[in-house]
Amino acid sequence: MAKLANLKNDLLSGNRRALAKAITLMESTRADHQLQAQELLASILSHTGKSIRLGITGTPGVGKSTFIEAFGLSLTGQGLKVAVLAVDPSSSRTGGSILGDKTRMEMLSKEPAAFIRPSPSGGTLGGVARRTREAMLLCEAAGYDVVLIETVGVGQSEIAVSEMVDMFLLLLSPGGGDELQGIKRGIMELADLVIVNKADGDLKAAAIRAAADYKSALHLMRPKADCWTAEVLLASALKGEGLEQVWDKIQEFETAMKDSGTLVQMREEQAKAWMWSEINDQLVDAFQANYPERLKQLEKAVAAGKIPATAAARDLLSDFLK
Ligand code: GDP
Repeated sequence: MAKLANLKNDLLSGNRRALAKAITLMESTRADHQLQAQELLASILSHTGKSIRLGITGTPGVGKSTFIEAFGLSLTGQGLKVAVLAVDPSSSRTGGSILGDKTRMEMLSKEPAAFIRPSPSGGTLGGVARRTREAMLLCEAAGYDVVLIETVGVGQSEIAVSEMVDMFLLLLSPGGGDELQGIKRGIMELADLVIVNKADGDLKAAAIRAAADYKSALHLMRPKADCWTAEVLLASALKGEGLEQVWDKIQEFETAMKDSGTLVQMREEQAKAWMWSEINDQLVDAFQANYPERLKQLEKAVAAGKIPATAAARDLLSDFLK
């Protein structure tokens, strides 16, 4: 289709409008759009994989948008192209979004070398994660050097994001030990780099103490990869301090991961895992569409203890697989 070919060419030439349009196509639930989206994705795949993929999380108020704005601007200032995507399953058309606020990152959004896209709205975490992964590939094809994927730091989305990025950054505030209890241990374990933000003014001394606490907490955790041990840095997103060190660390990480072959291996594993999760999702979707009524009846019967769950599943599945 001529229109799709144009979209592809515009996307590959780095046109931001084309990138936004392509992502919208990916997010559409219309069957014809889905077909076009998959065709587009297949045709640009060989142009992907060149950027550094970063996940970033932290509880609301820790300074994520302030940090991403300052950090993003420091990268565009060095001539790099930066894309910011978000995974926020709480967002939906009816509101309730934690990240969706349009006034966030105002300066970065005006920067021609930056692209900011809010979280796809509605649907399950799996659906949001799938569309974000595809959006990330589109950003890479459009020539973005750094793709930052932001999450809210409160639950499952961090795991989903860690499964699509190279490096995971955790932003913490100078709350120290207190905050360690608030942030889930599981999220701490995902971190390749911990950044204690707000290390300025009255909070500086507390930030230094917190960094020491976090360091010892990280020390007790098993490293994710042999070639890298998670580290703790101090920064002030507000004052723009410590951002260079963060970028240096990211590059150090990238070099270590590349030189050891870990990056290639990890991305291969991620791609395979993605395929399996697609198989799972698509099978379940097809299954549910096939038995809308019977599934409701079975759910009721299982809930009421009239049929064992295993038997209910097996009966319907054996019919489905015939
Ligand atoms: P988010 O909810 O994680 O996106 O946090 P925001 O970026 O909206 O920041 C929450 C509040 O913390 C705002 O009032 C910011 O001005 C403030 N803040 C963010 N970064 C810093 C920092 O480095 N130092 C100080 N002192 N305040 C900061």
